[in-house]
Amino acid sequence: MREKLAEARRKLLELEAGGTAAHPVEVSTPAVIGPMATSIHCPACDEPFELESHEAHVQGQTRLREARVRCRACGERRSLWFRVNVRVFAAN
Ligand SMILES: [Zn+2]
Repeated sequence: MREKLAEARRKLLELEAGGTAAHPVEVSTPAVIGPMATSIHCPACDEPFELESHEAHVQGQTRLREARVRCRACGERRSLWFRVNVRVFAAN
């Protein structure tokens, strides 16, 4: 039962923006990546994730940031994806 709930939560995290490299969260500055990554809770035990590392990926014209997080309680790891785009917030 508990494992089923964790599995459902993992799937939900993947569907949310930032869950996969194909659907990154748009941010205006890399400074917000750490706080956003650690505001997400572990799908298995609901503890907040800790930021382990933070990497830049360049795919053609797109610059992606991958935040690797780890759960302090159970060791579950996942990656959160961000796209740094300074124009998103300046445009409106
Ligand atoms: Zn956990």
